[in-house]
Amino acid sequence: MGNSTLIFDGHLDLAMNAMEWNRDLRWTVDEIRRSEEAMTDKPDRGHGTVSLPSMREGNVGVCVATQIARYVKSGNKLPGWNSPEQAWAHTQGQLAWYRIMEEEGELVQIKTTTDLNRHLDAWENSSGETPIGYILSLEGADSIFSIDYLERAYDYGLRAVGPAHFGQGTYACGTNSTGGIGIKGRELIKEIERLGIILDTTHLCDESFWEIMDVYHGPVWASHNNCRVFVPHNRQFTDDQINEIINRDGVTGVALNAGMLVPDWIQGKSDPQFMGVTLELVVNNIDHICQLAGNSLHAAIGSDLDGGFGKEKCPHDLDTIADLQKIPGLLDQRGYDNKDIINIMSGNWIRFLKKNL
Ligand SMILES: [Zn+2]
Repeated sequence: MGNSTLIFDGHLDLAMNAMEWNRDLRWTVDEIRRSEEAMTDKPDRGHGTVSLPSMREGNVGVCVATQIARYVKSGNKLPGWNSPEQAWAHTQGQLAWYRIMEEEGELVQIKTTTDLNRHLDAWENSSGETPIGYILSLEGADSIFSIDYLERAYDYGLRAVGPAHFGQGTYACGTNSTGGIGIKGRELIKEIERLGIILDTTHLCDESFWEIMDVYHGPVWASHNNCRVFVPHNRQFTDDQINEIINRDGVTGVALNAGMLVPDWIQGKSDPQFMGVTLELVVNNIDHICQLAGNSLHAAIGSDLDGGFGKEKCPHDLDTIADLQKIPGLLDQRGYDNKDIINIMSGNWIRFLKKNL
């Protein structure tokens, strides 16, 4: 696909956008924005940055794409489903969307190393018609309402699981909560390890993170996670946590949510231009992970673009996901050589998956 660098995005909520935001991702970003001009139901209406044509334009040829549905116990103020059964059913609707996109030649699911190699060959030699590859991941495991459903999910291609999302989940405690993993969490972790599923540490609170590290021996990554050294909040990882992932030969994908790039971001009030949010801050996070590792083998992109936010909460020098192509130039300016840049833009996720799928 031209001369641009292949980009592997480690975290995109594609089906959530299709099934909850009602975005037909086959449209261009402009078409989606225009269709939402009068809508006010969500803060990012009219500000989306992701569509399948824009991914193609930016040579984002492969990604990790999520199923996501939260279960909230009564009294929990977060939005979500009232039962894990409903949450499971919602994820199955999202799966149905992925399947239809596969049938239409827009996406191709990657479940094995063979699939991955085949896809990368096809993408490299394509003229723009090749389906975009995706690895299926589950963000927050509350929808796994009975442990045996995890194997069912593995059978339809689920290859990564983040045990928690926001708040206290069934299996672990997520962002903005505190606490460990308990008996159910231990059961889930054991089953993740037995099935050979990748454990996504993103969104785990510190206590759950370290408890999981004590009992889990399989592959780990942080699909969309920034560094706490820049933004002191529990959503970001400490250097110790990033080092733990590095020591396990894992990879951390840096995210583009402005609230994770500058401290003191106020939801609904702050403006990316005014706050000076640019792709340079994304590169700062990439660079910090590389400095901790002493090499370029553990940092990557997990943009999370359109993960409940759009242009109003992104680096202001990015209009659509195609602008991820600006990152290689920024890395080059910092002295990263071509090999490092390829590692970061796609090579590290690919190496990790070839080892662990
Ligand atoms: Zn997330």
